[in-house]
Amino acid sequence: MGMKQNKQSGFATRAIHDGQEPDPLTGAVNVPIYLSSTYVQQGIGQNKGYEYSRVSNPTRARLEQNLASLEGGIAAPVFASGMAAINAVASMLTAGDHVVCGNDLYGGTPRLFNQVLTGFGLEFSYVDTSQADNVERAIRKNTRMVYVETPTNPLMRLSDLAAISRTCRRKKAALVVDNTFMSPYFQQPLAHGADMVVHSTTKFLNGHSDGLGGVVVCSRPEQAEKLAFLQKAAGAILSPFECWLLLRGVKTLAARMEVHDTNGRVVAEFLAKHRKISRVFYPGLPNHPQHQLAKRQMSGFGSMITFETGSLKNANRMLKKLRVCSLAESLGGVETLISHPATMTHAALGEKGRKAIGITDGMVRISVGIEDLRDILEDLESGLAAI
Ligand SMILES: *Cc1c(COP(=O)(O)O)cnc(C)c1O
Repeated sequence: MGMKQNKQSGFATRAIHDGQEPDPLTGAVNVPIYLSSTYVQQGIGQNKGYEYSRVSNPTRARLEQNLASLEGGIAAPVFASGMAAINAVASMLTAGDHVVCGNDLYGGTPRLFNQVLTGFGLEFSYVDTSQADNVERAIRKNTRMVYVETPTNPLMRLSDLAAISRTCRRKKAALVVDNTFMSPYFQQPLAHGADMVVHSTTKFLNGHSDGLGGVVVCSRPEQAEKLAFLQKAAGAILSPFECWLLLRGVKTLAARMEVHDTNGRVVAEFLAKHRKISRVFYPGLPNHPQHQLAKRQMSGFGSMITFETGSLKNANRMLKKLRVCSLAESLGGVETLISHPATMTHAALGEKGRKAIGITDGMVRISVGIEDLRDILEDLESGLAAI
């Protein structure tokens, strides 16, 4: 099977080689895309490990091995989108179970929880998990799961994973962390005591804005078994082509994240010094209230930044001027994407909901890409000049 990697190899090496060994049949250096729904069997009950592609597929198996290695887990079942992965995690619960969630999650997550899953008897409460005590206070007798994102979207609030995982252990609730914003390159929640990690692989893991996907990284065999069963039973699996796009994307994850981080830090400092901007939310800035936790829990600060332009009118004036930064939802691609949370990703929260957690009409969120820094800064400067 060519080069065998293990946990001792560095991150970039594992990203390129784990699960990505040359094809044993032909020597092809890239994992082939196995476009086959079914697999011929040698006799009754005899096969080469594959029977039907909803259950398992060779391209998908290689990707799952790769992602498990990058997050330090034992398995990493992949799903058709980040939301399908989150739905699978929630499907591990049963009616009557209660989940404590962060109050500043990716908008689609509370939409799934409140508008779909409460109808199946699951209960959810939302607290500010940046204060670890709030989690403990919200835990009830029937709490089975604590679900957090760190940093959050768009306010870049952090949650202390080690502290929350100690509470979860004591209360026998599973800690699930959405690690989409940092990627396994900058944050390893399992190492801080989390039980499972989810990603929208659509973002940094894929990195090229050309395929949706989701993954749940497991730390224990019983989780892996249950999620493999859910792939088979519910069928929201990732297609072989999207698996291949991800296998290709992760090869450059380490290199991309380094540039995202460098560009992110410079853009955050530029915005923090700009007279038209009243506030910048970025964990890499020394005045971020959780800068110390950020340094302890993450190995970089990434490229997600939110800033305050003062009003909807100012935000619109700025966004209309931009030529390098594209006004679009989503994040984590090589291209700089910029968005307006109040009218885009967080519109569904309503004015009251946004006010309650501190999202204003003047806020703009940027996912800094890996273009030349000078071009990004010039573009932002010209946009801000319109305010
Ligand atoms: C995008 C996103 C999701 C949802 O993922 P999809 O791939 O769009 O279904 C979940 N969590 C976070 C933090 C995200 O950014």
